[in-house]
Amino acid sequence: MSVQVFGTAVSRGVAIGRAVMVASSRVDVAHYFVAPDRVDHEVCRLRQARDAVAGELLALKRDMPADVPHELAALLDVHLMMLHDDALTDATKAWIRERRYNAEWALSAQLEVLARQFDDMEDAYLRERKADLEQVVERVLRQLGRDPEAQPRSLLPEGNDGEPLVLVANDVAPADMMQFKRSVFTGFVTDVGGRTSHTAIVARSLDIPAVVGAREASRMIRQDDLLVIDGDAGVVIVNPSDIVLEEYRFRQQQSELERARLNRLRHTPAVTLDGQAVELLANIESPGDADAALAAGAVGVGLFRSEFLFMNRGGNLPGEDEQFEAYRQAVLAMQGLPVTIRTVDIGADKPIERMSAQEQRHEHGLNPALGLRAIRWSLSEPGMFRQQLRAILRASAFGKVRILIPMVAHGSEVRAVLEALQRARQQLDDAGRAYGRVELGAMIEVPAAAVVIDRFLADFDFVSVGTNDLIQYTLAIDRADDEVAHLYDPWHPAVLHLLHHTISRAQAHGRSVCVCGEMAGDPAFTELLLGMGLRSFSMHPARIASIKQKLLRADTRQLASLMPKVLAAERADAAMQQALADAGRSAT
Ligand code: PEP
Ligand code: MG
Repeated sequence: MSVQVFGTAVSRGVAIGRAVMVASSRVDVAHYFVAPDRVDHEVCRLRQARDAVAGELLALKRDMPADVPHELAALLDVHLMMLHDDALTDATKAWIRERRYNAEWALSAQLEVLARQFDDMEDAYLRERKADLEQVVERVLRQLGRDPEAQPRSLLPEGNDGEPLVLVANDVAPADMMQFKRSVFTGFVTDVGGRTSHTAIVARSLDIPAVVGAREASRMIRQDDLLVIDGDAGVVIVNPSDIVLEEYRFRQQQSELERARLNRLRHTPAVTLDGQAVELLANIESPGDADAALAAGAVGVGLFRSEFLFMNRGGNLPGEDEQFEAYRQAVLAMQGLPVTIRTVDIGADKPIERMSAQEQRHEHGLNPALGLRAIRWSLSEPGMFRQQLRAILRASAFGKVRILIPMVAHGSEVRAVLEALQRARQQLDDAGRAYGRVELGAMIEVPAAAVVIDRFLADFDFVSVGTNDLIQYTLAIDRADDEVAHLYDPWHPAVLHLLHHTISRAQAHGRSVCVCGEMAGDPAFTELLLGMGLRSFSMHPARIASIKQKLLRADTRQLASLMPKVLAAERADAAMQQALADAGRSAT
């Protein structure tokens, strides 16, 4: 029977494919496809791991002291029985043979299937056996992890030749999401997350339809269900009827045609109807994204989220030379266009493995969004911060580079940044290393910084407004929390006031100002931002064409004249729509 699951739309379009459930096992599980000629070998890996676990369990039973309650021995028998049960072993082999999942993935997929059967059992005693099954599977997963041939964690699929696949998970960490860039998933669905959580942002950068915060998803959807993701409405349709499927296939074709049409705008200059040139820049997460930025017609990189270079490395962080190479690669790929490199924004929903136990506790216990994040983290690791600054400075010898500091809020932080930069330059001079001239910018994403923006403008060459965080902190809404996602409102008058204030004060001081949060890439806000005077937008490359289309039809003088009304309104979105409609009528 067809059912619908509702969530928050984070990435537009329609995806149709088979569900791949990624279980949130307590053991880290690798996910990849095995080559057709390695399938037998993979089945053999599974068998060997299962035999090793059987050996472990038998040894435990044999060595059990006589005074241990006999229930424990009986439990080991249950585990041994489960281990050899066809429902586990045959079906797991089938995932390997038919879908070419690696053994770990196949086993956790089958655990999902069986766990649901246990959940549905009437008998409480039998239902509780699910925990035993999980323990048995975890033993086998651990055994597979000890295998020297085991692949690194979460190496996501590189390609299969079957049907399109849609990933369904309770949550996907931003670091894991990065691996999608090399994967075959055509869409994804998660139970948790908000529109501007970093997981959602990375999904949007992949330009694949996605729905987050679909709380029921991983409970309602089963392995291999046919799914339609409606990334515009934030709905997932599970096992749609033929007629619904037909309709969505049609919509999918339409949106592909629309995409092709928009693509033709990529070399059209971004100039409004009244002749105002607008700078459309790209947000990237790795140097490899620079090609997509150029292909989309970006005139530079407005935000390189450098923290992604620090993820998926098991805590082994990149040193100065490795970072330098990555920045240099991005700078060279952009062929003389400016590249704005943000110093690491680690913490909150982007932890790295190396974080101390205390930091991890903060991550999980206290409020991580208000904790040791971004520049606060960098200043607490001065050696690493200078190392990153040196790497960026060295890359600036190869092109136009700008440094952007995330989450600045205090004068003391500004002074510490200036000192660190000064020292980094001195260290490079002492080492006889070349570096170029860099501009220094601040991200305005803490309301305090927006309020006292005039003070910051004296020390920075430019500012870039991080609306994702500015909204989070202004409205006290955790951007990654689906329970308060409905309160995350970019149109809130307080947000618009801070945004407008920042843009106008920066311009009054003759400093360039950009918006690099998700608002910049959302056509619903293009007219508003142009009306506020913004002329520089940074967004995922995939968003550039839609924004360009919007601004090509905009008249900034007219939009500016609407601002007093919109900014004074209680419902600014409705006021904006009304003002645009009135302006349109009076023009005809
Ligand atoms: C923002 O906060 O708007 C921003 C661009 O930075 P990030 O999303 O990486 O926090
Ligand atoms: Mg931010």
